[in-house]
Amino acid sequence: MSIIGFIGLGNMGSPMVRNLIKAGHSLKVFDLSEEAINFSVQSGALAAKSVREAASGVDFVITMLPVGANVKEVYMNDGVISAADSGTVMIDTSTIDIETAQATYMAAKVAGFDMIDAPVSGGVTGADAATLTFMCGGDKKSFDKAKPILASMGKNIVHCGNAGLGQVTKICNNMLAGINALAAAEAMVMGERLGVSRETLYNVISTSTGRSYIFETSNPMSGVSATSPANNDFKPGFMAKLMLKDLRLSQAAAQSASTSTPLGAVATAAFQQLIENGFGDADTSSIIKVIDPK
Ligand code: NAD
Repeated sequence: MSIIGFIGLGNMGSPMVRNLIKAGHSLKVFDLSEEAINFSVQSGALAAKSVREAASGVDFVITMLPVGANVKEVYMNDGVISAADSGTVMIDTSTIDIETAQATYMAAKVAGFDMIDAPVSGGVTGADAATLTFMCGGDKKSFDKAKPILASMGKNIVHCGNAGLGQVTKICNNMLAGINALAAAEAMVMGERLGVSRETLYNVISTSTGRSYIFETSNPMSGVSATSPANNDFKPGFMAKLMLKDLRLSQAAAQSASTSTPLGAVATAAFQQLIENGFGDADTSSIIKVIDPK
């Protein structure tokens, strides 16, 4: 069993910590929010007073932070890389831009550490049930060291290639998820306005060619999909502002690859409008409010 420093105890980090403890690991945790730290302490983790304290004297450091700027701040300068003992393996599970993931990996390598980027899919439900998919980027040696730890939190642990390619895979997935959420909202609102009940639309499309994971599990219309946050006043789940962040990452990635993503661009604009309308902290399925504001 390993000693693990875990930094970032939000919607995702907190259940991931719980599963690592359940698997028998010892956890030292840090977050900017004292409340979040106390919550993990109740699950059996030790509280650290700083990033440096969480990163020293441990076998692994795992981070689950909102954006690239947070990852830069936590790893660089006086952060994880300068505080860790030799042999510590670093795993960043946040969804961030490809450039920051690669720069952090290089900084860790130059200092002699193994590191991977390992963004996840599966949401809070997957984090709770330890069924996350991890999309990993980095050298194979680092991946092989990290894999047994990731197995305590997830089911599918995939090596996608070199540093940053876990992020590339995740950004492609989330661009598609954002497009699918918007597309599901368009179809459901149009069908209901033309006289078909939402139940019929859901049942037929869920077994037809228009179906998607988002349509089936997080349908933007309430009362049709048992697991959808739409049934619970759009309580997240996956916040719309984080989806907008990922869609923006997709547009920056498309530009750097000189590839065209017209549907990604439309979804980005729609989520931008949703956030401007005050739904940033609501679940992604609230995208229906752009199509049908009432
Ligand atoms: P969150 O906002 O709930 O949690 C992030 C936590 O990081 C917060 O508790 C915050 O206080 C902490 N934090 C920020 N900066 C810090 C710092 N410098 N030092 C210590 N702690 C710091 O976000 P989340 O929903 O847990 O998402 C985290 C990441 O996972 C994001 O990149 C998101 O895109 C990705 N993700 C989320 C989901 C989801 O369903 N929520 C699914 C897949 C991927």
